[in-house]
Amino acid sequence: MQKILIVGSNGQFGTELLSELQGKFGYDNVIGSDKKEISNCNSCLFEHLDVLDSKRLEEVIDKHEITQVYLLAAILSAVGEQKPLLTWEVNMQGLLNVLELARSKSLKVYWPSSIAVFGPTTPKKMTPQQTIMEPDTVYGMTKLAGERWCEYYHQKYQVDVRSLRYPGLIGYKSLPGGGTTDYAVDIFHKAINKEVFQCFLSKDTLLPMMYMPDAVKATIDLMEAPKEKINIRSSYNLAAMSFSPSEIYNSILRLEKGFEIEYEPDFRQKIANSWPHSIDDSHARADWGWNHQYDLNSMTEDILKNLKAQSLVNTAS
Ligand code: NAD
Repeated sequence: MQKILIVGSNGQFGTELLSELQGKFGYDNVIGSDKKEISNCNSCLFEHLDVLDSKRLEEVIDKHEITQVYLLAAILSAVGEQKPLLTWEVNMQGLLNVLELARSKSLKVYWPSSIAVFGPTTPKKMTPQQTIMEPDTVYGMTKLAGERWCEYYHQKYQVDVRSLRYPGLIGYKSLPGGGTTDYAVDIFHKAINKEVFQCFLSKDTLLPMMYMPDAVKATIDLMEAPKEKINIRSSYNLAAMSFSPSEIYNSILRLEKGFEIEYEPDFRQKIANSWPHSIDDSHARADWGWNHQYDLNSMTEDILKNLKAQSLVNTAS
């Protein structure tokens, strides 16, 4: 039986991954952990843990007899530009702490990379798996260096570490943690609350995106795939859809008549301009059968339906 530790489980992705893993492996076999003291899941086993504290990380792994670690703790792209040295420390030392324990205790590891590994000199259309990678954000630099470490630990120490380069992740169950694609999460909350949405990217900024259920499915599918199907040990390109702020606005407007948007690009525009428009994820599709389910309109319909149901419950209680 697998015993799973999620590091950074209070975050936007961790919140959704945790409940899916609990459903698959059982309540007692999935342990959430975060630097934040209080867990944001109602029913889960939880440990207060800073991934930079390797002694405490080892204690938690031993206490629960952990066999798999999902390392989600990170500082994201927009916050990273405000705190570059802290971002380097958290994103790099956190990964090295996990990889070292994975080496000595034979743990299986999941670690997410990002389209931020690409930079202004990368081909923007259908960006290939292997291409020019000169990221100019500290976040992108940590993800690129992290990919090299993952491959190194696999080659040199046979650590079974697996990784995906996520595009912008869009969910409605929790608020995002400081990324450049966060506008595509916030926009739904403003639409439901009938407020004007101030978008921090310009209307035609095209970026690769993915609805959270697809990202969760991709992650678990990759971790469950037989070893011999995993040919890439740095990180797999992963894609579902690409859209711009004006395209997601129009998709919402179909269902929320009268919704308004204003564009006020800020420092995040420069980050977005350095990233690809679309991603070639053919290796993930060929190697372990990746297939996405949601496009822009089906995601919009699902998010608005769920947010409306949530606000009805909140009004009633
Ligand atoms: P998030 O910011 O919402 O969550 C990160 C969590 O990590 C937070 O709960 C935070 O408290 C915790 N954390 C931060 N520092 C920590 C530390 N030192 N020790 C323990 N916990 C710590 O981020 P997310 O959106 O859930 O992203 C999860 C992972 O996916 C990250 O590695 C991120 O780089 C990657 N990713 C996310 C996106 C996206 O669009 N959200 C896109 C590409 C890649």
